[in-house]
Amino acid sequence: MSHRVTFIPGDGIGPEVSSAARKCLEATGVSFEWEVHDAGEGAIEKFGSPLPEPLLASIRKNKTAIKGPITTPIGKGIRSVNVGLRHALDLYACVRPCRLYPGINSRYDRVDLVIIRENSEDLYAGIEYDDGTPEVKELIGWVKAHGGKTIRPSAAVSLKPISAEGSERIIRFAFEYALKNKRKKVTAIHKANIMKFSDGLFLEVFRKVAAEYAGRVEADDRLVDALCMQLVQKPEIFDVLVLPNLYGDIISDLCAGLVGGLGVAPGANIGAEAAVFEPTHGSAPKYAGQNKVNPVATILSGVLMLRHLGEGKAADRLEAAVSAVLKEGRAVTYDLKRGGSGAPVGTSQMADAIVEKLKS
Ligand code: NAD
Repeated sequence: MSHRVTFIPGDGIGPEVSSAARKCLEATGVSFEWEVHDAGEGAIEKFGSPLPEPLLASIRKNKTAIKGPITTPIGKGIRSVNVGLRHALDLYACVRPCRLYPGINSRYDRVDLVIIRENSEDLYAGIEYDDGTPEVKELIGWVKAHGGKTIRPSAAVSLKPISAEGSERIIRFAFEYALKNKRKKVTAIHKANIMKFSDGLFLEVFRKVAAEYAGRVEADDRLVDALCMQLVQKPEIFDVLVLPNLYGDIISDLCAGLVGGLGVAPGANIGAEAAVFEPTHGSAPKYAGQNKVNPVATILSGVLMLRHLGEGKAADRLEAAVSAVLKEGRAVTYDLKRGGSGAPVGTSQMADAIVEKLKS
């Protein structure tokens, strides 16, 4: 059976890492029909929108997509295409496994945790009021009238909505993920001592849902600041972490650092109707077109996609091939090179080495 998958090359280093992943996915022997669609700047030129309707229709139809990263211009006006895609398809769960593979240079012996990040709410909801606008003035006045707190008149304001439904579905997703993947514990991350209502609600819902899984999956919680320290000191004590959107974003990069960097950190964005697989890293524009960066994060995102498509054996084989190349440490990109193990190889050469391992 052939799997029809929407393929979004992305921009910056996106086309290089996504084509490396495609080569490895095809080398597993699993059959794919790729529907290639541009997003971001390339799509604006063709369709007048960074997230054109034919792209969204393709993912809705195929239910599965793999994408390279897409640049978000910093500054006013343009929102992230990546965040826009998650919102448009209601891909509410971001899954980011962080596993330390043998051969990778790290301060730690064992890291094997999974981040489950809420994707639709929190400070990422994009509800912001710019400084000096009539809306922000009205909001500042409203806050003063309804709680007596003073916001400086020159402030810009971003809102942090967290709902019971939004929390429940991501927390339930985390416990179901733990059961399905034979994980022992789910830890909720929050700052409920300070944000008593938004993070407080997230924690309250967590405790309610955790009670339903008692005896099957352990549950505990941490303040996000305490988590940061403990992750650095003893990451091996964590298993599955479930986090609101912004903490999930930041902790994902921290955890990528524990296991060898952004070059080896895969991800998936999953909703009820569709799933989009992409690396944790961005488009690293300064390395674009140099055949230099590490393709492993995107290839491992492909491993997650294979599992999602029910191709578990092919996923295991591809992951083993990646692991073998990492362990040897020869055909690896600059970010993974250890002293005395020769010159680094390029993006496509590392993918070729993984394909060779798949064949052997
Ligand atoms: P980035 O992840 O693109 O790069 C930061 C640094 O990490 C790079 O300079 C590089 O040193 C390293 N790095 C990243 N990917 C690597 C790889 N595959 N191999 C080796 N090293 C790698 O983060 P940034 O510079 O903050 O963001 C660049 C652009 O990407 C921004 O426009 C940002 O909005 C966008 N972005 C997109 C996504 C996405 O598409 N999902 C995610 C994050 C950032």
